[in-house]
Amino acid sequence: MTALPQERRVVTAVPGPKSQELQARRAASVARGVGSVLPVFAARAGGGIVEDVDGNRFIDFGSGIAVTSVGASAEAVVRRATEQLQDFTHTCFMVTPYEGYVAVAEALAELTPGDHAKKSALFNSGAEAVENAVKVARSYTGRQAVVVFDHGYHGRTNLTMALTSKNMPYKHGFGPFAPEVYRVPLAYGYRWPTGPANAGPEAAAQAVDQIAKQIGPENVAAIVIEPVLGEGGFIEPAKGFLPALRKFASDHGIVFVADEIQSGFCRTGQWFACEDEGVVPDLITTAKGIAGGLPLAAVTGRAEIMDAAHAGGLGGTYGGNPVACAGALGSIETMKELDLNARAKAIEATMKARLTAMAEKFDVIGDVRGRGAMIAIELVKDRTTKEPAPETTAALAKACHQEGLLVLTCGTYGNVLRFLPPLVIGEDLLTEGLDILEQAFTRI
Ligand SMILES: *Cc1c(COP(=O)(O)O)cnc(C)c1O
Repeated sequence: MTALPQERRVVTAVPGPKSQELQARRAASVARGVGSVLPVFAARAGGGIVEDVDGNRFIDFGSGIAVTSVGASAEAVVRRATEQLQDFTHTCFMVTPYEGYVAVAEALAELTPGDHAKKSALFNSGAEAVENAVKVARSYTGRQAVVVFDHGYHGRTNLTMALTSKNMPYKHGFGPFAPEVYRVPLAYGYRWPTGPANAGPEAAAQAVDQIAKQIGPENVAAIVIEPVLGEGGFIEPAKGFLPALRKFASDHGIVFVADEIQSGFCRTGQWFACEDEGVVPDLITTAKGIAGGLPLAAVTGRAEIMDAAHAGGLGGTYGGNPVACAGALGSIETMKELDLNARAKAIEATMKARLTAMAEKFDVIGDVRGRGAMIAIELVKDRTTKEPAPETTAALAKACHQEGLLVLTCGTYGNVLRFLPPLVIGEDLLTEGLDILEQAFTRI
């Protein structure tokens, strides 16, 4: 395998002729409901670059949605997964177990917050991990209700659609949804009526009041929250919000679940984002960044909670597939070796400096936020009313794509540009990507 040159290159229109041909085949054979941000077909990817079938090379500010933090062809991931492929592809852990699964569970116990005894169960996707965290919490508490938050995103399966806040495109027409799910306010600093400084305590008080009045804490099995929200708009819950809910959960025997599927594994400059406020969750769900691009997810948590579900109650045919486990061990090895937490913090410093300077020039930028290599700008038509500007956001993303920069949008109002570069991206590509973004602002 030849190394992929770490250089942006646009040699055709975007999408190019070969991508257009594939796009026609795709339109005829792939269901419309499965969308794509940028309809160029990938040929190779690695480091900070995605190369398409026409030979265009895009600077990657997406990491396949926060997945390829170590790059899309990291040496240790490829090596370990290849070795495992040659030994065996699958036996099913529920039939005959293998060491890789146990080694991943051991690594998760070591890396997740808290020094209590921990256990894990492995799955294929983030949504599946969240579903299983809820199953475990219900089993442990003997209660049913699940509390989630405004702007939260937890997946596309039936239970996780219920847990997810946004209707379009995630839920529209797909109901009925699972019962016993309750949504409470989130400390969204930028949009909190009395300002960001008050958002933490006020939103926590409202959330706790609603739980007390509308559900009854003694009926709540779990509180499920993203320590930094992903699809909802890279919202960092205002200071104090997470610790207040953590305390409320402890006081009432509620299982506190941190959904770190997007924010975990060095993405925010910590192994897990909840560490920034010293919050120790009872259960933590992981996926995305865990295995360098191979499909793997996990629920990790207090041993006595994880062991509450009866033998045979958790699992799945492919859960903790040996090749995916090998990928995870390679990914974790790379994160440690290259100190990708430090790298994420360095990416934050570069990005925030540039984006803050852009915010001084371009009024459409209402907010610059995020942590580590999970950074976003929220775009508004007017800084006083904060009216969202989704059209400008889409136009900017498209302009970046045309110039060879892959960026993603998100947010309840579709007005957030999010930046999730691989943590191994070179400083030159990072800067060049920001230059392209700045030029796009000037043109639009
Ligand atoms: C992506 C995501 C999920 C769902 O993960 P899938 O692997 O797509 O099922 C759940 N929670 C959060 C916070 C996510 O970002």
